[in-house]
Amino acid sequence: MIHKDHPRYESLKLRAMVVDAYKRGILADSGMIAHGRGEAFDYLLGEKTSNNAKKAVKAAAAALILAENPVISVNGNTTALVPREIVKLAKEIQCKIEINLFYRTPERISAIEKVFKDVCAENVLGNDHEEKESIKGLEGPRSSSSKEGIYIADVVLVPLEDGDRAEELVKLGKLLITIDLNPLSRTAKTASITIVDNIVRAIPNLIEAIQELKGADPSTLHQIIESFNNNENIQESLIKISKKYTGVEQ
Ligand code: ATP
Ligand code: MG
Repeated sequence: MIHKDHPRYESLKLRAMVVDAYKRGILADSGMIAHGRGEAFDYLLGEKTSNNAKKAVKAAAAALILAENPVISVNGNTTALVPREIVKLAKEIQCKIEINLFYRTPERISAIEKVFKDVCAENVLGNDHEEKESIKGLEGPRSSSSKEGIYIADVVLVPLEDGDRAEELVKLGKLLITIDLNPLSRTAKTASITIVDNIVRAIPNLIEAIQELKGADPSTLHQIIESFNNNENIQESLIKISKKYTGVEQ
């Protein structure tokens, strides 16, 4: 039991959720290592949402509202930390959720499916019983994508994705939105819109931005996306980190 007065309470709470998910078979052991990497970047970024992450959230909200066939891709880490928020987001934009695992096993797929069913998800794809298409350039179970989901999606939100898969999805012409605390990862650099923030803050912020922008006309939404530059946004995160630790606090 972590005491609320502990100075690292929030961070320790997330760690406990990740460890618990590992014990329940939702997360692969390497998912805990991925969390640790994210945690380190969160620490460097001051553990709060930056102005550039807010800009990326706004562009992501506009892209998701304009999408004809959006899909949210979920893995073990996302399931461990924000299952309810993912379902709320999916309902907000009426989109499908697809389980998409790097270390895919039937046991983990059904453990994740159960978590989403328990929080009233309506349309969860990616299980082992439905029709699949292989994503070119990827091998084995990592290449699996649902025929009704990621395979035909125009916009895919893939938090905490692996670089290889992100690259192949972009090659297929998808507008890729990611949430990744590491501004240097291949996924962060490959995606069209990278939200450099912790998923536990980014998803609620995304829901709020979608609620605010939903009534906007399409030309305003297109304008928001066109004026967003992912490389510049990533640079802003790196500048933020370096200024923070060289005495020029932003
Ligand atoms: P890439 O394959 O894109 O080069 P990688 O191999 O370094 O990245 P992966 O394990 O493939 O890393 O992806 C996990 C990513 O998720 C990491 O970049 C990590 O920083 C990020 N991450 C981990 N936990 C969180 C979190 N809670 N919120 C946002 N990002 C996170
Ligand atoms: Mg990787």
